[in-house]
Parts: sequence; C-alpha cells; structure tokens
Amino acid sequence: MRVLFLAAEATPFVKVGGLADVAGELPAALRARGMDVRLVLPLHRAIDRRSLSLHHVADVIVHGRVDEVPGTAFVAGADDGPVYLIDGDLIRSAADVYGEPEADAAKFAFFCLAALETCESIQWKPDVVHAQDWHAAPAVVWLARMGKRSDFWRGVGSVLTVHNLPFMGAGGAAGLSTFGIDPTEDARLPIWARPLPLPLGLAHADWITTVSPSYALEIQTPPFGCGLDPLLRERSDHLVGILNGLDPGVWDPAADPSLPVHFSRRDLSLRAQVKQYLQSELDLPGEPCVPVLGMVTRLDTQKGVDLALAALEAVLDLPWQLVLLGKGDTALTAASAAFAAAHPERCRFLEGYAPQLASRIYAGADMLLVPSRYEPCGLTQMIALRYGCVPVVRATGGLRDTVVDCAGAAGTGFLIEEATAESLASALRRALEVYADQRRWRGLQRRGMAQDFSWSRSAERYEQVYAAAAREARERAGVTA
Ligand code: ADP
Repeated sequence: MRVLFLAAEATPFVKVGGLADVAGELPAALRARGMDVRLVLPLHRAIDRRSLSLHHVADVIVHGRVDEVPGTAFVAGADDGPVYLIDGDLIRSAADVYGEPEADAAKFAFFCLAALETCESIQWKPDVVHAQDWHAAPAVVWLARMGKRSDFWRGVGSVLTVHNLPFMGAGGAAGLSTFGIDPTEDARLPIWARPLPLPLGLAHADWITTVSPSYALEIQTPPFGCGLDPLLRERSDHLVGILNGLDPGVWDPAADPSLPVHFSRRDLSLRAQVKQYLQSELDLPGEPCVPVLGMVTRLDTQKGVDLALAALEAVLDLPWQLVLLGKGDTALTAASAAFAAAHPERCRFLEGYAPQLASRIYAGADMLLVPSRYEPCGLTQMIALRYGCVPVVRATGGLRDTVVDCAGAAGTGFLIEEATAESLASALRRALEVYADQRRWRGLQRRGMAQDFSWSRSAERYEQVYAAAAREARERAGVTA
C-alpha cells in the first residue's frame, strides 16, 4: 500500500496545533505496518531549512487558471521514510503557517497540486492520497475531477480526514479558483459551501474519516454539522471515526526531558516533586495538598476557557490553584489575564505557546480542565492521562471516547454532559471531594496511566479504509491492481 499523506503541518518540522502531532506520528505507525507512506508538507517560512538536510527532488509546474506556477520539491531524510517539502513563491511569501483566507487557499491549492506533480515527476504512484483538513482537500477534488483523465492518476483512491469541521477554508473560493478548482453544483451542499475547499473535498473524497468515533456521529447532526450534516449523513457509509493516538515514546513521564523529575505508574509518589517544581517555577504557594488545576489550550471559544473561569469563580470557597497556558483569541486572552490578576494568590496565566512548560503542567498539575464545546479528538486529555493528571472534560467527541467517568469502577476522570459553567462547577466539587481521598485518587491516576493510546490500533483502522478507498477507485476506473 502506497500512501501520499498531505498535511499543512507536522512535527518535528512545524507545529501550530494537534494536527501537527497527528501528521508527525501517524505516518510512522502506518510504515510500521509495512506501508510506503510519503508525507508532504509546504516548506513554510517557519521551518528552519538550515537545520534540515534537504535534497532537491523535482522542479514542477502547476497549471493555474492563467499562469504556470513553478515549484520545487525537496526531500528531508527522516529516519523512517522520506518527507517531501514543497517550495514556491506562494509558500515562501506567507509569513505564517496560516494567514488570510484567500492567500491561504491559493497557497494550499498550489501545495496540493505541486505535491501531485511531484509524484508524477518521480514516477511514484500512490494507491491512495490521504488529505488532512481543508488545506489538503484540493488534492482530493483535483483527483476526482481531473485525475480520471490522467493515465497516471486514474484509479487512485482518496481519503479526507476532518480534524476540525468548522475550519472549512472560508473565504478561500477565489484562491482555489486561481488553480482551476471551481465550485460544485452538488445539491447535497448548501450554496454557501459549494466553493469552499473542505465541503468540496467532502463531496468528492472516496472515504471521509474524522478523528474519533463520537465526533463522526456528532457531525452528522445539526448542532455539530456546521450546515454540512445533510451531506455527511448521506455519505455515512463512507464516513468513519478513528481515534488519534499518542506516540508513547514522545509522551512519557519517565523520560520527558522537560521534567525535573521522572516518574511512572509504579513510583507515582515522585510526581509530587514535579508539582512542587511547577508551583515554585510559577511563584504559586507551594502547598502540596492544594490541588493544581491545569489548562493547556488554544484560546478559542471551542475550548470553553470562559466556562472554566466562570466555574472557578463559583468554587472560590474550595482550595485550588489554576495554571492556564494558552494563546489565541484577544478577548479570551484579556479575560484570562483579568482572572489571574483578580486571584494572584492562586492563579497564573501564561500567555504563549510553550511545549516544555506544557509538559510540566501535564506532569505536575493534579487535574486538567477541558470543558470544550466540541472536540473532534483532543490530545491534551490523552497526554494528561499518560502523565497521571486527571482530566475533567465535557462529554463530547474524542473526550467522550477517551475519558471514563469516575462514577464507575473503570473511571479515569470526570465527565460533564452540558457545556455550562454550572455543570463544570459541580464536576469540580465532585473532583475535589474525590481528591481529598488520596487512595481513591491514586486509583484514578493509575488507571489513566495504564490506558493504551498508541497509534498501532488506529493505523490498522486507517489501513482498512485505505484498502477500501483504493479498491473502490480501481473498480470505478476499471483498472486492475
Ligand atoms: P487542538 O484543537 O488545538 O488541535 P488538541 O488537544 O488536539 O487541540 O492538541 C493540542 C496540542 O497542542 C497538544 O499537543 C498540546 O500540548 C499543544 N498545545 C496547545 N496549546 C499549547 C500552548 N499554549 N503551549 C504549548 N503547547 C500547547
């Protein structure tokens, strides 16, 4: 099985959010199953070219509506397989990984088409093109529309993975059109969605996947479907949810280089030293018995930071400290800063993106709050579980699929049904009560740390989807394997 894996970001090259973790880790798990998986990324400015040993692979021409746009593909010799990086004016001139919608759409459409051109140029024909999110959806659309006229691409299957449905590439119609990707007439889509990259991809992909079984069901309903639920319901026989994994080698409290002290399930008592270090690093009172609540998050309405702050205001009578690390929305940044300023004796807000501090929060905080309004999969709660930090989460999407409420014997955390400050406040009261019983708490921590979130199970599911997509595409095109 040969898979062309297209993504806007991937660790260790460039990371903005959880997509980078997935695109950095899943290809390796697929290769471990014997597949030939080639990851392709834009050579963003944020990628430090000098630190990579890049080798020239191909010069390509992408046919725009008006112009022929040149690009270059390089290969970086990753340990377990080649990673291609696409260079070109549209990519080089963009300051950030993500910017303005129209420029982004043109940049990512160019990236997709240049990636396909590169395969042809080196005569490496995949069985399946696996596109991540709206940025890579143009590749799927091109394959469905133009690929059938190409001897090289005919019979190649496509899979589109939705990591976050509301991010559809809004405002990107003109950018796509620059590269000849026009709106669809597909009546299953609302008119406003017909020129946008993600809806176009969802209409054209052989298979659609999303990143948890619960989210796959939720996006087929109006509250989570963002207007695309009629199409997604209609395509439900080609839509599956596959939970993201975590690389256990990367996320390991017994080896994480960001931690002052290492620990495992068997020597959990050492964890208290990380908590003490975190409190002292952030100049919080070093009280071992006061639970530290952590949040590591994009500051976005999705993540419910506003709910967390309101819930904490409602439980000021209880002992807790809050460490909030986040970056994003201006209003939420201001609200977080104001909350920290109002409660200097128990709250720290660290504005920014700080992976090492994030690790110390997972390893030192007693609980991680994830009161998301929706959550396709969520990685932070899985990392928290690995690090013995008990998650308090909204029962939605991947959060529902990865955290078991402590009401049952198999509990690993706390679930709230409603995305409201009141439900979160009552879950916090419940959690703080359990915390007071340290024997019970240790049980929760140990069960959480024992969960298997490794990629191998997910990789097996992806392999099945690839096989179906490749087989169906070949049958449709009347080509033999
Ligand atoms: P998202 O919706 O942002 O992709 P996920 O929970 O799936 O949310 O993944 C978030 C990833 O980004 C995790 O690896 C988390 O540790 C990391 N992260 C998020 N915000 C920050 C931050 N401010 N500093 C450091 N790491 C962060």
